[in-house]
Amino acid sequence: MATGTLTIDLDALLSNWKALDALSSGAVETAAVVKADAYGMGAGKVAEKLAVNGVRSFFVANVNEGAVVRQAVGAKPEIYIFNGHADGKTAQIRASYLTPLLNSAEQYQRHVNALDGHPFGVQLDSGMNRLGMEPADFLAIRDRVLDAKPALIISHLACADEPDHPQNRAQLATFHAMTDGLPVRRSLAATGGLLLGPEYHFDLVRPGIGLYGGLPFTKSQPVVHLSLPVVQVRQIGIGETVGYGAAFRAARPTKIATVAAGYADGLIRALSGKATLWAGDTPCPLIGSVSMDLLTVDVTDLAKVPDQLDILCEHQSADQLAAVAGTIGYEILTSLGARYNRVYKGGHITKV
Ligand SMILES: *Cc1c(COP(=O)(O)O)cnc(C)c1O
Repeated sequence: MATGTLTIDLDALLSNWKALDALSSGAVETAAVVKADAYGMGAGKVAEKLAVNGVRSFFVANVNEGAVVRQAVGAKPEIYIFNGHADGKTAQIRASYLTPLLNSAEQYQRHVNALDGHPFGVQLDSGMNRLGMEPADFLAIRDRVLDAKPALIISHLACADEPDHPQNRAQLATFHAMTDGLPVRRSLAATGGLLLGPEYHFDLVRPGIGLYGGLPFTKSQPVVHLSLPVVQVRQIGIGETVGYGAAFRAARPTKIATVAAGYADGLIRALSGKATLWAGDTPCPLIGSVSMDLLTVDVTDLAKVPDQLDILCEHQSADQLAAVAGTIGYEILTSLGARYNRVYKGGHITKV
């Protein structure tokens, strides 16, 4: 069966990186977060594009992702691992020359026992209570950690997409208290923190979602476009139903286009009966339930049914589609499945 076409505009992605980079002063390094396969966009392609254009530091969640990025960017860039130095991962950390962000005294001990002298960073918990050393944990081992010369100390904001949330200032103060005066580079801001302003930038900012065209970076350029092939068109009469659970019942003679993509492709079931697809500039309502591989769309009002309908396009961003389903753009992007035909615009041609 035909599959959808997911077009990823690497030039738009690079423009987003440059626009974010321009928001911090020249002394602040702008890194790139490429975890979760670069938010579903393809970590190898995305990291290569950015590295060729001067990005020096990348962040991923785990060492498997780090190995993919290392392949793409070559030996030079720094690749940080948010999950740190997990048990059993030493060989991969060494082989791909990854820099784990150590989250506990236990991880620190594991790292120095296994890979003394190998680069590492430290992740502190400044109030999110998710990952990283708590103030007391850090204080207990701080002098030893500093002797081993960490490459970076980071922490992460819980509420940076809400500029007025009091937790931003509270975490900023905690991060200062934990790190002021230490001879180590520091990083606190992801996309949201970067947009909060220079106080939050420290030595390195690490945007993810903003690179991929997502909120809270409202000035981003769209990076993804998703077109889905129409595989069948049928006419139904008043009172006939469509799809699982007979969830849609026609109130007028209705023309239905069946489109080849479903919840197995990241178009989650919560979109059922709510989302909109686009035939050029004309909106077409998704009707009935989203199935695993198929969607049904009301195309009654179209003069001509096109070969494809768009679901991520100039009329509908990942954030807008997400809002329909009660989720966030991050979840829509990272759920886009492996079955699409992926087309990269602006890809770097690798020398063979
Ligand atoms: C995912 C993540 C980022 C990037 O966040 P965005 O909101 O996508 O910019 C930065 N730092 C940490 C610790 C993360 O987990």
